[in-house]
Amino acid sequence: MCVFCQIIAGDIPSYKVYEDEKTLAFLDINPVSVGHTLVVAKGHYSNLEEIPFNELTALISSVQKVGRLLKDKLGIDGYNVTENNDPVAGQEISHIHFHVIPRFSGDSLDPWPRRGYELEEAERILKKIIG
Ligand code: AMP
Ligand code: ZN
Repeated sequence: MCVFCQIIAGDIPSYKVYEDEKTLAFLDINPVSVGHTLVVAKGHYSNLEEIPFNELTALISSVQKVGRLLKDKLGIDGYNVTENNDPVAGQEISHIHFHVIPRFSGDSLDPWPRRGYELEEAERILKKIIG
């Protein structure tokens, strides 16, 4: 059983934030910021491509609830929602989960360095995607 399945089964303790029939949310043990919460599907699906649509809609609905909860109760200024899909993207636990990461004005967290497109690069990549 994976770590999150063990948490769902109650075999590993967690700081539970929210629970319903299809989803569970608990504090990330190594938070990016205080209140960083993981929202997981109760079914074991490895990533975004594996989870069935009805389970995904339940999961994203719980993400919305958790975002509201953190905003209401912690007085945070906003939050990031991320889902690391596959190891190359930083996915360590192969059980679908969304991160809800509280943000505070002036916290200077900037996880995504940007670049520009080179000449005709956007056209080339778009042709690959939809061409
Ligand atoms: P990811 O890298 O997207 O797979 O995220 C996995 C997250 O799970 C990391 O942010 C870890 O800090 C977190 N994590 C791992 N084990 C536990 C645990 N037992 N309880 C709470 N969070 C955990
Ligand atoms: Zn699992």
